[in-house]
Amino acid sequence: MAPIRKECDYLVIGGGSGGLASARRASGQWGAKTIAVESKRLGGTCVNVGCVPKKVTWNAAALAEKLHQSHSYGFSTKETAPFDWKTFVEKRAAYVKRLNGIYDKNLEKDHVEWLHGRAHLLSKNEVEVNLDDGSTQTIHAKKILLATGGHPNVPPYPGAELGITSDGFFELETQPKKVAVVGAGYIAIEMAGMFHHLGTETHLFIRHENFLRPFDPMLQEKIMAEYERQGIIVHRSSSQSKIEKHPEKKGWLNVHYKDSKGEGVLDADCLLWAIGRSPEVEDLGLDKAGVKQDQRGQIIADEYQNTNVENIYSLGDVCGKVELTPVAIAAGRKLSNRLFGGPEYKNAKLDYSNIPSVVFAHPEAGTIGLTEPEAREKYGDKNIKVYSTQFTDMYYAMMDPEEKTPSNYKLICTGPEEKIVGMHIVGNGCAEMLQGFGVAVKMGATKDDFDSCVAIHPTAAEELVTMK
Ligand code: FAD
Ligand code: NDP
Repeated sequence: MAPIRKECDYLVIGGGSGGLASARRASGQWGAKTIAVESKRLGGTCVNVGCVPKKVTWNAAALAEKLHQSHSYGFSTKETAPFDWKTFVEKRAAYVKRLNGIYDKNLEKDHVEWLHGRAHLLSKNEVEVNLDDGSTQTIHAKKILLATGGHPNVPPYPGAELGITSDGFFELETQPKKVAVVGAGYIAIEMAGMFHHLGTETHLFIRHENFLRPFDPMLQEKIMAEYERQGIIVHRSSSQSKIEKHPEKKGWLNVHYKDSKGEGVLDADCLLWAIGRSPEVEDLGLDKAGVKQDQRGQIIADEYQNTNVENIYSLGDVCGKVELTPVAIAAGRKLSNRLFGGPEYKNAKLDYSNIPSVVFAHPEAGTIGLTEPEAREKYGDKNIKVYSTQFTDMYYAMMDPEEKTPSNYKLICTGPEEKIVGMHIVGNGCAEMLQGFGVAVKMGATKDDFDSCVAIHPTAAEELVTMK
């Protein structure tokens, strides 16, 4: 069968956070004839194997923690309430499926045609799409967006394929009894926390002495102390040499490792690699259009999301600048405004500075702006003033000392006006708290601005406007 040929103004490869936001804005708001291509499920990483199912699981883990803590408030729930992993996983999958349907409807509403298939560039204006039914379409597009995201890395050790990645985490049909999580970034820390609070014995293997190393040192230290206090076993300065199937226990593995205490073999019924992600570009045909990549394979895009090839744009995880859903969405919308929104938007672009983000650890940790070492390096020690506080959230007032999780907040200010250039918070409710404070920091708030806002009492957040 001869391939179908089509034409459009805007062809979006990748139906994830960035691609769909950009496609809908281009078509729904600006009337550009837009086609989007997605090879897996609509919504991409965030909806299917990222933020959404992760946050739902985090909620479950937080509930488990609260059930345990509720005794201190006089409730008599069972000490370890049984958690029905299977039912939870099925309900979570149904929720994600519902979202896939909503994404489909939204595309229809905004008149975006979407194709379920795998796309690759043939030239700077032509894309071939291999559809699920085996047929092919060739699309001639005036402009093309590459928003193909990324996939998790697996190391090259013998037997590494016996482990799973974050994608596999969401496919686990039964709850592991004992897990080895390898990695030190967002995903490792979040998933280790969730496993632990849901009742899985959790071993976390990190290559260095600390995890979350790009974050402020306070945040690294406090989450580490808290994880170890809670009972997560952290293997520092560790590496793995090989992974084998357990000779006796069906479905279990032997993880051969070295850590700061020596060599060992850990038996676990789940091994999770959370050691970073790579851009999804292998079959994208970048060479056919001459699109440049950096050493890590990420597509190089400038601040306007232009690649080196005219009329080909790229954003989101495949560019690897800031790998967060709202960043991909915002960049996608700005780009469509610039390309199709007329003269008013001719300079539209995303400002990548002061982007707030949260690690959904237990407790949550929020961050915006510079870390203390970054601020000292940028402004010089003399021009930096740091305010920090550690306190016990009133939530823990009814609990025994060993059950109390401290909250830690830090503000980094610069100049005589004490402009806030970094804010780092660890404790209950930090994820929700950061969004509002993020607006203030983005607007250039000073310490005085914070102090001039009357505290809301009794809250944890009030500590941020009363710091000495
Ligand atoms: P994606 O959402 O990955 O979309 C790319 C899409 O392109 C995919 O659906 C893929 O199938 C498709 N595709 C790839 N190649 C082709 C091709 N050749 N043809 C057709 N289709 C193709 N971010 C947050 O902000 N908050 C969080 O709490 C958070 N939690 C996360 C938890 C996990 C476990 C993970 C893995 C990520 C998390 N993220 C979170 C990051 C967030 O999911 C990503 O930053 C975001 O999804 C990136 O969007 P994107 O559009 O760039 O790519
Ligand atoms: P990250 O890049 O954040 O972290 C991976 C870390 O694993 C590295 O920084 C490194 O830390 C460590 N590592 C790398 N290789 C190895 C190895 N061979 N053995 C052991 N450790 C190794 O990647 P993630 O996969 O955690 O997450 C990808 C991105 O997704 C994040 O950067 C984030 O942008 C996004 N995300 C956002 C979330 C949120 O907003 N809450 C949640 C989840 C993901 P070191 O050098 O210290 O060893």
